[in-house]
Amino acid sequence: MLLIKNGRVLDPATKTDAALDVLLDGDRIAKVGANLSAADAEVFDAHGLVVAPGFIDLHCHLREPGGEMSETIETGTRAAARGGFTAVCCMPNTTPVNDSASVTRGIVERAAASAAVRVWPIGAASVGSKGEALAEIGAMKDAGIVGVSDDGKPVATARLMRQVMDFCNSLDLPVIDHCEDASLFAGGVMREGPRAIRLGLKGIPGQSESICAGRDVELALLSSARLHIAHMSTSGALEYVRFAKRVGARVTSEVTPHHFTLTDEDVRYDSNYKMNPPLASRADRDALVAGLADGSIDAIATDHAPHHAASKDVEFDRAPFGIIGFETALALGLGELVHTGKLSLMRLVELFTSGPARVLGRERTLAHGQPADVTIFSTDHPWTYHAAESPSKSRNTPFDGRTFRGAPIATIVGGRIAYRR
Ligand SMILES: [Zn+2]
Ligand SMILES: [Zn+2]
Repeated sequence: MLLIKNGRVLDPATKTDAALDVLLDGDRIAKVGANLSAADAEVFDAHGLVVAPGFIDLHCHLREPGGEMSETIETGTRAAARGGFTAVCCMPNTTPVNDSASVTRGIVERAAASAAVRVWPIGAASVGSKGEALAEIGAMKDAGIVGVSDDGKPVATARLMRQVMDFCNSLDLPVIDHCEDASLFAGGVMREGPRAIRLGLKGIPGQSESICAGRDVELALLSSARLHIAHMSTSGALEYVRFAKRVGARVTSEVTPHHFTLTDEDVRYDSNYKMNPPLASRADRDALVAGLADGSIDAIATDHAPHHAASKDVEFDRAPFGIIGFETALALGLGELVHTGKLSLMRLVELFTSGPARVLGRERTLAHGQPADVTIFSTDHPWTYHAAESPSKSRNTPFDGRTFRGAPIATIVGGRIAYRR
């Protein structure tokens, strides 16, 4: 048994913000209450710390199978644990693509053998994520997927998206879309605008994302399916999400820490600033922060996308899209959103816990009988991020060397301490 004492329990699911203790018994929460004692329990002193339900990351790339040069399930989940995440959803764009029950089973088995935190796979929507035939979604659900996506690219056509939604509706799975219009995207590498012109880089208009988000919202209305917009970066897409929520459609969305922190004005000729969707305009960034505050956006997700130095250390145009993100997510949320007074601490914790859980149709709360997944963090611990010290196999981040206030202190998964600062 593990007794977490003297902490400030923050549980958005029950709107609890109080000095309480949490007793874990094996892989379950036994009790949450004031002044708990348990004679034979190990005690974790959380004085001065926040005790929250275990963080969930809806969107990451663990690269296994097939991309083990850049990351493995083991190294990626160790980085996730350092970031305070107790569960991560891994996208299916591996080699081979996770489009069949046998690939899903392989991921689940590798995770059972080597992962530091829970791994919840996302299955491909179409075979090979090629946008032609439906993948074997039902069999993948039986093998353990928690959602479907052709991430890396959008579900290719409206007709296919309608089929995917109808199918996932009957299985009660969320459909997660990477929104992008291929004809507008067309070889771009950063957000279209004055900065792209100055850098001489080909731009992508924000409408590449919002047009696809609008298509998906229309189809969610048609099918009544659960639609989740991945890594939303534009005010246009956010307005479609707001409209969908207003009319009662089952539409949710996530935003990454880099999109609520940086803008296209921050982009340098350095491939650690190259991600997809690209860093957006200041107006878009400010709209996303407002959406995080007012409840229009459901989750913060990292889109942790490791790339080995050999592939990323090339000209901007030729580098792959994506940055790593587990270890800086909470600190960026605290620094950019909470310490600035834009979001309450309760709302930030919701975006990492009950928010993403709801997208998956789950609960996330500190209560008797729930899984013993707990994230303990400090809101003011000063530290500097050194990517070279990351357990991740990759170093592609624009936040290397950045100083933060607030950090994960312990990550507890199924009653076991997966990470302790
Ligand atoms: Zn994506
Ligand atoms: Zn992704």
